[in-house]
Amino acid sequence: MKQKKTKKTNRVSLREAIRLNVRVIKMVYGGRRKLLFLQLAKTAFAALTPYIGIYLSALLIDELTTTRSPETLRALVWWILGTAAVIALVQSVLNRLHAVESTAMWEHVHHLYGKKMLSMDFVNIDNPNTHTLVSRINQNSQGGGWGPDRIVWQLDNLWSSVLKLFGGSALVVTLFTSKVESGSAVEFLNSPITTATVLLLMVTITLCAPIFGAIGGRLYMQSSADHRLGNRLFGYYGWFGTNENSSVDARIYNLRKICDNYNYAKTSLFASKGYFAKLNKGKLGLVNVISSVVQSLFNVLIYFYVCLKAWGGALSLGGITQHISAVHIIAGSVRGILSTLTDMHNNAFFLIDVFAFFDMPDKMYQGTLTVEKRRDRDYEIEFRNVSFKYPNAEQYALKNVSFKFKIGEKLAVVGQNGSGKTTFIKLLCRLYDPTEGEILLNGIDIRKYDYRNYMSIFSVVFQDFRLLNFTVGNIIACASEYDRDRVFACAESVGLGEKIRSLPNGLDTYIDKEYDSAGVEFSGGEMQKIALARTLFKDSGFMVLDEPTAALDPVAEAEVYQSFDKIVGDKTAIYISHRLSSCRFCDVVAVFDGGALVQMGSHDDLVADENGQYHKLWHAQAQYYAEEQG
Ligand code: ADP
Repeated sequence: MKQKKTKKTNRVSLREAIRLNVRVIKMVYGGRRKLLFLQLAKTAFAALTPYIGIYLSALLIDELTTTRSPETLRALVWWILGTAAVIALVQSVLNRLHAVESTAMWEHVHHLYGKKMLSMDFVNIDNPNTHTLVSRINQNSQGGGWGPDRIVWQLDNLWSSVLKLFGGSALVVTLFTSKVESGSAVEFLNSPITTATVLLLMVTITLCAPIFGAIGGRLYMQSSADHRLGNRLFGYYGWFGTNENSSVDARIYNLRKICDNYNYAKTSLFASKGYFAKLNKGKLGLVNVISSVVQSLFNVLIYFYVCLKAWGGALSLGGITQHISAVHIIAGSVRGILSTLTDMHNNAFFLIDVFAFFDMPDKMYQGTLTVEKRRDRDYEIEFRNVSFKYPNAEQYALKNVSFKFKIGEKLAVVGQNGSGKTTFIKLLCRLYDPTEGEILLNGIDIRKYDYRNYMSIFSVVFQDFRLLNFTVGNIIACASEYDRDRVFACAESVGLGEKIRSLPNGLDTYIDKEYDSAGVEFSGGEMQKIALARTLFKDSGFMVLDEPTAALDPVAEAEVYQSFDKIVGDKTAIYISHRLSSCRFCDVVAVFDGGALVQMGSHDDLVADENGQYHKLWHAQAQYYAEEQG
């Protein structure tokens, strides 16, 4: 992994940048007017109130240097203190309200990501490109703060800079209109040419700072891909020790050194002689130095001009502070506006990824039919010449599979690993649509059913099931509010009753300690039982067990399958296994081999067919079990 210097400028055209920023404003603020209002109010207040202080201070200084009336001075001090207190109070109330709303904004944006992720076609989730895109969005956000959320502080900056610009301009007018006394040594200051020259110099220098800022920003942008890579490596190799599983290996095999090697030596992005250090020492450092020098020149110019005018009698002592502050505010706000606009332009490059994610098309046809809720659960499933290829795969995972299956039967799907069993279930549950052929429920193509409604007739426990970190009760019921007796009954029937009774928090126990110190680390077998109880609770037409028991030994797996079968009673169940003995109790056995359905029938018939795949597998495995048990 040699360090690559990205030469691309990563620039987005101005028109495209405007379009992307308008879209992100609609996305972040859509339906959240309160946040926008509070943001405008808070920023306006913060931007405009300093002028009250500047103005009152100028009056105070003038009073001190002229009449020095105790009454006026006292009144001015009270005004300064009183307005400062009221301003601080209102500002803190606005800040608080704004903080509440902007916290909700984070949630709103993350909710949008989550909603898209859960509603997109499963085929998109399965696509590695989706994961690369999502991971890039995350890294851009975590590494550099780029992405939709950035628009909030950008609008803050922009709005407050615009207001400050207006406020400052109002205070500064007299700097250019007041005349020095005629006959004074600096009378040339009254000439319009001098005023125009000073103004031009001020504007030029003010505009220089954002230009340097933009150059610096662009230098960082050019390295954004490297930055991401560095963050990824750092996030992985730098934190592996905190992961429970990897830290065991890390200790036993002393992996610290090799990880450091991957982390620093290979990329050297963040090391003291690394890429970013060089950038800061080199071009970026130079840009920053020039920017500071330009800023100092600006200060010299302002002080010089204002003092000369005061010396010539055009300004009072109070006027000096007022005008110097005002000019600084104006210059700062022009810089603020320009640098924020540049930042919005830069952020547009990262928004392209964000909207590529949100615009990812969902191609699965969404039907409207409702699955008939039949009391007799008399459904029939038919696969008609179904073939399927995973996206980006060369080979078919299923080839021309045709068969009919009636609800109420117990179906075993067997075959060696990689023969297409899980793919068959994924198609049945419509996680994917067939590449060719069709799947019918009661004679109707399953694509014509409403997707959610169709999903509701399946309960599946996949081999690599992952339970989310909820309480046991929430997991089984898949809901926050649930019928506790029924959940407990389901847990009891899969043999989990005693365990739950032994827990101080019962069904309210978390299955991990991560978010609740009273949580319990359940064993693999117990997790499996929780997953089985969830299947029972859903009480759907089809129960599918796709080898969640693969980690168990063959005898234990057969026991789990058979006891589960007793619990499901006369409901339809599909049992998948590469171990034939686990499913021999089923009415029908479907044998898969190399993506094709090669045999179908009862266990006894299939064993008897000496030329069949089932016969071969059965005898090969029976010998193995005999050895294992003996
Ligand atoms: P089984 O459940 O019988 O072990 P699968 O249905 O999981 O088999 O896999 C069938 C074939 O499809 C295998 O060759 C497997 O490598 C391939 N396959 C499974 N999942 C994917 C996927 N998400 N992308 C590409 N190929 C896959």
